[in-house]
Amino acid sequence: MSGDKITVLGAGAIGVSIALYLQRDGHEVRLIDRDQPGSGCSFGNAGLIQCASVVPVAVPGIARKVPRMLLDRSQPLFIQWRYLGSLAPYLLRFLVEARADRFTKNIRALASLVPGSFEAYKPLIDAANIQPMVKPSGELHVFESDVAFKEAQKNFDIRRANGVDVEVLDADGVRQLEPGLVRSIKYGVFLPGCYQTTNPFRFVNAMAQHFVANGGSFVKASVEDLSMEADGSAKITTDNGILSAEKVVLAFGAFSKPFAEKFGLRVNLDSERGYHVNLPNPGVTLNRAVISGDHRFALAPIDDGVRVVGTAELAKVGAPPNYPRAERLVPLAKHLLPGLADTGQTKWMGHRPSTPDSLPVIGRSATHPNVYFAFGHNHSGLTLGGMTGKLVADIVEGRPPPFDLSPFDPERFQR
Ligand SMILES: Cc1cc2nc3c(=O)[nH]c(=O)nc-3n(C[C@H](O)[C@H](O)[C@H](O)COP(=O)(O)OP(=O)(O)OC[C@H]3O[C@@H](n4cnc5c(N)ncnc54)[C@H](O)[C@@H]3O)c2cc1C
Repeated sequence: MSGDKITVLGAGAIGVSIALYLQRDGHEVRLIDRDQPGSGCSFGNAGLIQCASVVPVAVPGIARKVPRMLLDRSQPLFIQWRYLGSLAPYLLRFLVEARADRFTKNIRALASLVPGSFEAYKPLIDAANIQPMVKPSGELHVFESDVAFKEAQKNFDIRRANGVDVEVLDADGVRQLEPGLVRSIKYGVFLPGCYQTTNPFRFVNAMAQHFVANGGSFVKASVEDLSMEADGSAKITTDNGILSAEKVVLAFGAFSKPFAEKFGLRVNLDSERGYHVNLPNPGVTLNRAVISGDHRFALAPIDDGVRVVGTAELAKVGAPPNYPRAERLVPLAKHLLPGLADTGQTKWMGHRPSTPDSLPVIGRSATHPNVYFAFGHNHSGLTLGGMTGKLVADIVEGRPPPFDLSPFDPERFQR
C-alpha cells in the first residue's frame, strides 16, 4: 500500500468501482463527475451483470449486414448516415475485428475478463451492505422462430465452450420460469450464472455513497481540460476551478476519447447509443430479465415497473436522441408480454462506450506513468465495474494481474 493521492475521472459503474478498490488499498481517492454518481450510461441500462457475455459484436460475416445497418432503421444495430465519415475509422477496424482469427482472440479476451465479474463486485457489495440490490436471477433468452433459435446456437456454443452454464428449455420450461410470456414462444435458453440489479443507478450511487462515507471525496464538476505538469502530476481544469492530482484514472465512458488524446493516446472509441422505455404501470409480472432472440431487445424488471431495453445505434456523442428507435420496442414488448401496459412511459438514451473489438481499454499510459485508462466497456460496463476496479488497483499497486491484460492494452489502436 503506497497511499497515493489518486483522482478518478468519471463516476459511472467503472469509475466508482475503481475508486472503491483504490480506497481499499489505502489510497486517498477523489472522484470527479459533472453529475451525480451513476447518472451516465450506468443510469438506464438493463441492470444485468452478464457473467456469460463472452461473444464480441464484430462476428465473422457481419460485413454482409452493414448495408442493411445503414438503410434499415428497424435493424437492432443501425448506423447513422450523416456520421459515416467520422465513424469510418471505427467501422474499418470493426470489419478487421470480424475476421475469424481476431474474433477468436477477442472471445478469449472476454472469457478471461467476464466470468469473474460478480465475484469481483462481491467485496464492494458486501462492504456497502447492499446485497439485496443484486439478485442471482439468471438471464432468459426466448425464441418464437426456428430460424432465430438456430442462428443463435453458434453464440450459445461459444459460451458453453468457455465454461458458461447454458440450459436449453422447451416451451413448457420457459412458461415455468415466466408464465406471463406469449404462448407462441417455442424455445428458451436460460443462463443461470447471471445477476441483475433492478436499479442500476441506485446500485452505483449506493457504492459511491459508501466510498464517501469511508473517507473518499466526491467533486461535482465538469472537466474541461487535462494536462501534465513538469513534476509528472496532472492538472485538471474544471468549470469550478483547477485541481491537481498525483495520479489520474480516466473513466469518462463514451466521453473519454478527447481526454485520452490530451495524454497522447488515440483510441478507437465511439458512442453506440442504446435506449430504454420504462413502463411504470406494467400490470403484469416479470420475474427476471428476458431477451427476445427474435427481435434483439430485453425486458427487465425494475424497482418501478418494467424496462424495455435495446437497440444499438452508432453516432457521435453529441448527436440528438432518436427516440422513435425506442418507441419501436414498445409494441414488440407488448407482444412478448401480453397485457403489458404502456401508460406513463418515460424514455432514455445512453452512450455505450464502444470499441470495434468489444474489449475495454484498461491500462497505464505508455508515456505518462501517473495516468491510467479504464473505459470502452461496450455492452458490459455494468457487468465489468468490479472486475475493472480490481484490475486497475492491481496495476496501480504493481501486483501481477490475474490474467493476461495485453488484449486491453490502451495502445492497441495505434498499431
Ligand atoms: C440500453 C442499454 C442497456 C445496457 N444494458 C447493460 C446491462 O444490462 N449490463 C451491462 O453490463 N451493461 C449494459 N449496458 C452498457 C453499460 O451501461 C455501459 O457499458 C456502462 O454504463 C459504462 O459505464 P462507464 O462507467 O464507463 O460510463 P458512464 O456510466 O457513462 O460514466 C461515465 C461518467 O463520466 C462522466 N463524465 C463524462 N465526461 C465528463 C466531464 N467532461 N466532466 C465530468 N464528468 C464527465 C459522466 O457524467 C458519467 O457519469 C447497457 C447500455 C445501454 C445504453
